[in-house]
Amino acid sequence: MEKEEDLRRFKFKWTLPRLIVQLISLLAVNALVFTQIYPYLNLKSIPFGLPILASVNSSFTAVYSSLDLIQMELSQPEFPWIVLGTIFLIGAVVGRAFCGWVCPIGFIQDIITTLKGKLNFISPRTHKAAKQVKYLVLFVTFLISGSLGITLYLGGGSDYKNALGIFASGPFIAISPDGTLFGTIPALLTMVRENFGALIARPPTIQEVWAGLNRIPPLPALRIIILVAFFAAAWKVPRFWCRYVCPTGALMAVFQKYSYAGIKRDPVKCTKCPHCEVRCPMQINILDLPWEKFNDPECIMCMECVDACPHGSLSLKFP
Ligand code: SF4
Ligand code: SF4
Repeated sequence: MEKEEDLRRFKFKWTLPRLIVQLISLLAVNALVFTQIYPYLNLKSIPFGLPILASVNSSFTAVYSSLDLIQMELSQPEFPWIVLGTIFLIGAVVGRAFCGWVCPIGFIQDIITTLKGKLNFISPRTHKAAKQVKYLVLFVTFLISGSLGITLYLGGGSDYKNALGIFASGPFIAISPDGTLFGTIPALLTMVRENFGALIARPPTIQEVWAGLNRIPPLPALRIIILVAFFAAAWKVPRFWCRYVCPTGALMAVFQKYSYAGIKRDPVKCTKCPHCEVRCPMQINILDLPWEKFNDPECIMCMECVDACPHGSLSLKFP
């Protein structure tokens, strides 16, 4: 009898399985880092794209961001059939779930929020307006890469390509924080490690450090500023980058709306308390959405709302 009662009371929680999947994904996406520790490992990156942030600029990345591959292929110029096909397939089945479960940059933001132990929310008006910024970032990325791809395909475009410089092979790749975090920073650390002995023997003076900082070219400086802003924003607002800036998030938000996977809310059990909304890192007004099934474009399928509901009224709906 007691066992039956326990079973009825037992509620599956998504938080721990998601954390484990995110951790495994972080290691798998950056699997080539293990070749630094164990040089005999013969690991190679696969030129396959997933709807996450995984920079082609990082020497540790085992699979790449779909958006990075699209930008690179357009600059070749080639049409990214396979990458787009993968995005369609993943988007149709699980929508934006890779943001909630696989993306390392999403995971890092979740860790920051967990360390902070509190979810800050911003005014609904600002939130509504700021959400549009990521679509603008996506539009500009496609505009630059698409126009370059078309002009190159038509036989011209070499002047345009030269004028774009480093932005030609990917306007967003050049400034994305994942490239800085997993590419530039490890390269700098390797440099420091290799010169550690010399640095200890004769530590640089403040003037030398300052002169060195002043010699950093504008683009790497911009990258570092973006990375610092990324961390500061993640501390202030949960998933700031995903909500307002990330073009991959914007791309997958389009699919999320029509995906098979969604969440349903039992209107009989629901008391509109609203614990689910308070726990949502994407600040979604869950109680205003259709109860039969909701697929808000901002929803990353993290299932935090499902875990938060004390009445068990929310659950995964597929399809
Ligand atoms: S929105 Fe961008 S950064 Fe956030 S989880 Fe999705 S792909 Fe990663
Ligand atoms: S609605 Fe639920 S599943 Fe979607 S992002 Fe918010 S908490 Fe996560």
